[in-house]
Amino acid sequence: MPIFPTPHKDELLYSVVARAGVYAGIRNAKVLAREILDKEGTTATLDLPSRVNHISRLLASTKRYTSESLIYNHTLFPLYAPFVQDDTRALAIQRMSGNAVGPVHLMLGIAASRVKTSQSLRYCEKCARLQILDFGESYWRRDWFLPSVPYCRIHGSLTILDDNKAHRKQEFVPLILPRMSLGLSTQDSEILTAIADMACDLLHYSPKPSPSISQWSQFYQDIASNNGLTNGKSIKHADVFEAVNETVGSNTLRKLKLFPGENRESYWLTTMFRKQRKSFSYLEHLLVWKTFLANERTQDILDRVSQIRALGEAVGVSTTIRTHDEAIVRSSVVKENREKWSALVDSLGVSDGRSSRTGGALYAWLYRNDNQWLLQFNLSHKRVTRGRTSRVDWRARDINTVRKLIGIKRTLKDNPGKARRSSNWYLTQIQDHRISIEKNAEKVPLTQLFLTKYAESVSQHQIRRLCKVFVNKLWDELPIVKWQILREAGLSDRTITAETKIFATKLKLEM
Ligand SMILES: [Zn+2]
Repeated sequence: MPIFPTPHKDELLYSVVARAGVYAGIRNAKVLAREILDKEGTTATLDLPSRVNHISRLLASTKRYTSESLIYNHTLFPLYAPFVQDDTRALAIQRMSGNAVGPVHLMLGIAASRVKTSQSLRYCEKCARLQILDFGESYWRRDWFLPSVPYCRIHGSLTILDDNKAHRKQEFVPLILPRMSLGLSTQDSEILTAIADMACDLLHYSPKPSPSISQWSQFYQDIASNNGLTNGKSIKHADVFEAVNETVGSNTLRKLKLFPGENRESYWLTTMFRKQRKSFSYLEHLLVWKTFLANERTQDILDRVSQIRALGEAVGVSTTIRTHDEAIVRSSVVKENREKWSALVDSLGVSDGRSSRTGGALYAWLYRNDNQWLLQFNLSHKRVTRGRTSRVDWRARDINTVRKLIGIKRTLKDNPGKARRSSNWYLTQIQDHRISIEKNAEKVPLTQLFLTKYAESVSQHQIRRLCKVFVNKLWDELPIVKWQILREAGLSDRTITAETKIFATKLKLEM
């Protein structure tokens, strides 16, 4: 093999091998595998290739690529690593490097997962064109191959190549644009584009030990209690689902095959918020983070989970302290921060305290260093305030919220969007205090007035879409054809409401 190309940023190893083939004039996987990987019978694996140490050796002269760095920077491994037990993670690295044999996909739970990997080639045409401008060639980027999420973090939907999977495994296909125009395009989805963005952060998370299952269990327990989704010790699973469903949308959940079936007990979201027994896929984790931790960076979340001392693992602060001196210093800092936090919670309450200017860092510190105390304190504080008048300044919050809502409504004029602007939609846009506002509707009369006045009903939403299509037709002097207008407005006889029907009749669109 004369030259082996160095990988571009985020380029899949599959793609690097394919480019090596282009330079050498070889496409057949068997021949390429023999020439490059020094082994016959290797199939072209997109996501988690094996024999990575051999590629690392081919790149030895650059002194930049160890097997581990290739695995972490040029495969989809980081999508799985944080969510499996740490010994599984270490063994998977061994196997992918080529230092141990065995199927990697099986041990990472991919074969059995609800979230299926795709064997089809996919790409973002806009990104690929930019690659050509930057590098004079295009290549397969790993974040185009997120299982179940065919979206570019910047441009949205990807093009999926309608190729024969069995055939593709036999060759390393390079990304060359002119031959790509046969592809199928996915539909635009805002939420999945956002998930793709979070998944990219996950791909760039540096190699670290994986959190344990009990740390994950504790983490989701905390999410539930911080969002008022617990009843004593038990989780309100129906409310958890409502929140996720509201953020992600039921259609998207169905499309991802993550919508609940008959048996809610074994539903993934239910089992995730219980004491976990097995790992969950990156997609399941990210959908929940998007719902409850929308403002936090993916990296920060992962760091935080690793710091959790799960219930049952440690008794008190003192057990982790190594020396006597350190213990004294630590205990005084702990004491000081406990006092600061309780003062803050007294004046603002737990969730507002957390989102206040100084509260975030304080909460994070206590979460890491004094976890048990913090959880106990927050829990007991919740019990005290519930039922009594809370110290939240509802009047100020009401005015603040309504200001934000009016701002959002103004921006809608230029870009009305496709989504229905329901009350929940508006509240999701403001993010802050969303759940407390929903739960305390009677304390925020201005917000309620706004929502009653401006939130769209299903019919209003349908009529808005209908009008838009109708007016565009008139404007462009196109014929008014009922079925065309309905289809373009995304309406069907099955979904159309009685109110919309009456309106359509007035437009002389007989139903
Ligand atoms: Zn793109």
